Amino acid sequence: MADYPETVTELHDWFPDEAACRAYLTRLRWPEGPRCPRCPAAKVWQMTPPSYRCANCGYDFTVTAGTLFADTKLPLRLWFEALWHVVNQKNGVSALGVQRVLGFGSYRTAWRWLHKLRRAMVRPGRDRLAGAVEVDEAYVGGERSGKRGRGAEGKALVFIAAQADGSKIGRIRLARIANASGPVLEQAVCRCVEPGSQVLTDGWKSYAGLEGQGYRHEVIRTTAIVGKNLLPRVHRVASLLQRWLLGTHQGAVAHSHLDYYLDEFTFRFNRRTSRSRGLLFYRLLGQAVALGPILCNELVGGTSPQGIVAGATGA
Ligand SMILES: [Zn+2]
Repeated sequence: MADYPETVTELHDWFPDEAACRAYLTRLRWPEGPRCPRCPAAKVWQMTPPSYRCANCGYDFTVTAGTLFADTKLPLRLWFEALWHVVNQKNGVSALGVQRVLGFGSYRTAWRWLHKLRRAMVRPGRDRLAGAVEVDEAYVGGERSGKRGRGAEGKALVFIAAQADGSKIGRIRLARIANASGPVLEQAVCRCVEPGSQVLTDGWKSYAGLEGQGYRHEVIRTTAIVGKNLLPRVHRVASLLQRWLLGTHQGAVAHSHLDYYLDEFTFRFNRRTSRSRGLLFYRLLGQAVALGPILCNELVGGTSPQGIVAGATGA
């Protein structure tokens, strides 16, 4: 039997109160029983629930200590509800949507919750793509293509790697990059693609050093225009990303927050064929308890929907 709820009714049955939420997080975080975050090998005593004490260092902790849910003043049930909402919106959610569904008084709270959850969408220590991987860069936040190496005002440059799965797209990786220079692109490839893989690019000179980095490099065609080439998978991903940013977020994504959105897009894209929303909920929750706490000041901005770069106009 699945270890997660499959419907919203089941969600409410599974998690009627805080104790049920904590018990579930405990199973996800410590399948072999509670562990001290400071000395994992030490014996642990159960104190008055939900507290534990480390027999070695005396540290008192709970299941949310050192996770994304640390120091939260609001009930875990509300967090679970938010998570469920996020994984069940196929095209992603906006902070306004979360605020409406959960009845938050403040946009800022909804925004911070959503960005914390986006952080959890990147699995810590996730593996790199392998096999045949198409790689390219694309400008997001504008209709026109930009010239390589020069940058385009108001647009952000995103590195895209798309694994080939037969004629289809397998998994993807995205990363915001500063420019399309050799060192930057080589580093992006190394972070996203397993050495020894076949990397397909266009003839852009910055990719010329990939053989030296241990990749089998195949040049598909020479062109100087970003986003216009014969790499169908990365091209498709670029246009889906562009459409998603314009649709779900009305293009209103500040460059400083773009990383979070790229993480969310990647999470959704790589699981797009998963029919079980419950499984996504389970995965995301598991990643949330594997993640360190996120301090408010680690999340930049988030005060209001105003004052952000309008990607739609490329302004
Ligand atoms: Zn300890």
